[in-house]
Amino acid sequence: MIFKKRKFIKILSFSVFSLFIPFKVILASTKKMINPNLSKEQKNIMFDEGTERPFSSDLLSEKRKGFYHCANCGNKLFTSEAKFDSGTGWPSFSEALPGAFKTKIDSSFGMKRIEYHCAQCGVHHGHVFDDGPTESRKRFCNNGLCLIFKPE
Ligand SMILES: [Zn+2]
Repeated sequence: MIFKKRKFIKILSFSVFSLFIPFKVILASTKKMINPNLSKEQKNIMFDEGTERPFSSDLLSEKRKGFYHCANCGNKLFTSEAKFDSGTGWPSFSEALPGAFKTKIDSSFGMKRIEYHCAQCGVHHGHVFDDGPTESRKRFCNNGLCLIFKPE
């Protein structure tokens, strides 16, 4: 009888646990840490959907020709030609290279926003909006800390 009761409790606690595994844990398991030298801030943005302080990125003033890569896996994400000054304080792009990202609906902060992740390693990069200045109407609002610029 005692054994049965214990077993029941064990099963019960296991099922309760599995119901409450936070969504972020499941999501994090699809992300791969590739660059072991990422800073604490970079990890917070990439793996916990954090956001860097606006106007803090050195890339805001970057005007050279080249490509922007994922700081975690090196995946090529944007060309310098797609970059524009949105005035928001985050590096902004009118379009991404084909297949660079996967998107997901983010409902945090009471807003419905489209969040995008690197298609290769899965880490968070930013949000994409439909108020861009070019024909694509897209504005990729990217955390500068997630990007590495390589001049041509
Ligand atoms: Zn990546």
